[in-house]
Amino acid sequence: MRRRVERLLRDIALQRIDILYGLGVEAVRRGDYALAKRYGELIRRIAMKARVRIPKGIKRWICKNCNVIMVPGINVRIRTRREGKTLRIVTRCLVCGWIHRYEFIRGGSDGI
Ligand SMILES: [Zn+2]
Repeated sequence: MRRRVERLLRDIALQRIDILYGLGVEAVRRGDYALAKRYGELIRRIAMKARVRIPKGIKRWICKNCNVIMVPGINVRIRTRREGKTLRIVTRCLVCGWIHRYEFIRGGSDGI
């Protein structure tokens, strides 16, 4: 029983994360970075409380430093570089200047 409740809470948490991310993207489009940061913080807090992982497709777009939601073409600059089988992705948050680095191995399941 308890397990079922926990799973339900996690489902709700994931749904809320999804909604907040969408709202965050809209806030960035309007230029309201303060609000976008607030949404980023909320997403982290909800994930921590419900002990869920933030989906990769969303986690990548929350700045580790200032928690702002990053939207390509608006407040984040993306550089990619291929080195053999590895694809290096460097994103720079244009709100605080924080640089994030990711690596992908080609053929892996972790596509972008
Ligand atoms: Zn930032």
